[in-house]
Amino acid sequence: MFGKLKEKLKGWIKKNKEDEGVAKPKEKKKSKEKKKDTRKTKEKKRKEQKKEIETLQNEETSKEEPEKKSFFSRFKKNLTEEKFDEIFDELEMILLQNNVAVKAIESIKNSLKENLVGKSLNEVDLSKELENSIKELLIDPEDFTKTIKNSLKESSPFVIMFAGINGSGKTTTIAKVANLLKKSKLSVCLAAADTFRAASIEQIQQHADKLNVPLIKKDYGADPASVGFDAIAYAKKNKIDVVLIDTAGRMQNKDSLMREIEKIARVNNPNMKIFLGESITGNDATEQAKTFNEAIDLTGIILSKADVDEKGGTAISVSNVTGKPILFLGTGQKYDDLEPFNKDKLIEKLGL
Ligand code: GDP
Repeated sequence: MFGKLKEKLKGWIKKNKEDEGVAKPKEKKKSKEKKKDTRKTKEKKRKEQKKEIETLQNEETSKEEPEKKSFFSRFKKNLTEEKFDEIFDELEMILLQNNVAVKAIESIKNSLKENLVGKSLNEVDLSKELENSIKELLIDPEDFTKTIKNSLKESSPFVIMFAGINGSGKTTTIAKVANLLKKSKLSVCLAAADTFRAASIEQIQQHADKLNVPLIKKDYGADPASVGFDAIAYAKKNKIDVVLIDTAGRMQNKDSLMREIEKIARVNNPNMKIFLGESITGNDATEQAKTFNEAIDLTGIILSKADVDEKGGTAISVSNVTGKPILFLGTGQKYDDLEPFNKDKLIEKLGL
């Protein structure tokens, strides 16, 4: 999980640690780096060094430095804004290639810039700085079952609506959540409010049967909001704690889907509105989360298929773009493959 981003970030940190912000005389690694450098960068570097030499030479005439200190060691002192931009360009590419959205990259850049410019890469812990700047973008969720149990003391049932496009793992995740709630000694019923997609009702029925929870359903084409309404009435009558509402996720007609989702939310007034996105789709998931958040003001996000996501940037992007917490990561096809999201765990997976 998240292997590519981890490897690239580690490489970036290592390279810049070795580089110490500026050129050092005669180093083996130089030849490798030289190949990578474009002419433009080399020119920029030369100008920068020249400027720094001039400054240092001026200083030399006014101040007396201890002789022992090597001339070049003083180059390590300041990471200029220019040099920062140069090393960040490389990090920006790494982040972009690994599904971190432009807005999130901007935030990382600003926070790193603030903490690095004017310092030597020698004296800062680059991985710690990067870790902090990524952490600032993430939001730790509240304890899921605790929130539900607290709310049930006030009123019941607790209603959770799931939204997201077809194939994102919505039905499977609803089953995973039902399984988790059952394990936490909460009773659950499901509402088959995707009355649009062929076979969607049969699919959720299979999960309901396996988990031994009731499913409230109507015919295909029925008003989805009314299915949710019936499920809530059923839960009230049968003293069921939590209602999980599945919804349609057709991609073809975004406007009509959003109208339908808004209506389900309005009629059923759920306690939680969760967006389901695929970790592996990166920017698509981020854009979808933004659209759903604008339509129904999400409570939080679940990202499925994190187990097959080599990149790892989607969680950072989705959280930053919506300002909503990731609640869980889906980590496989089994009911137990649902991992509560935790900032520190993500950072750990990124190897920072
Ligand atoms: P829906 O159309 O959004 O309801 O999506 P489904 O629940 O039918 O899931 C689509 C496919 O993704 C199925 O084959 C699921 O088994 C698979 N899937 C769902 N969640 C995960 C996950 O966390 N990891 C992996 N590897 N597969 C998943």
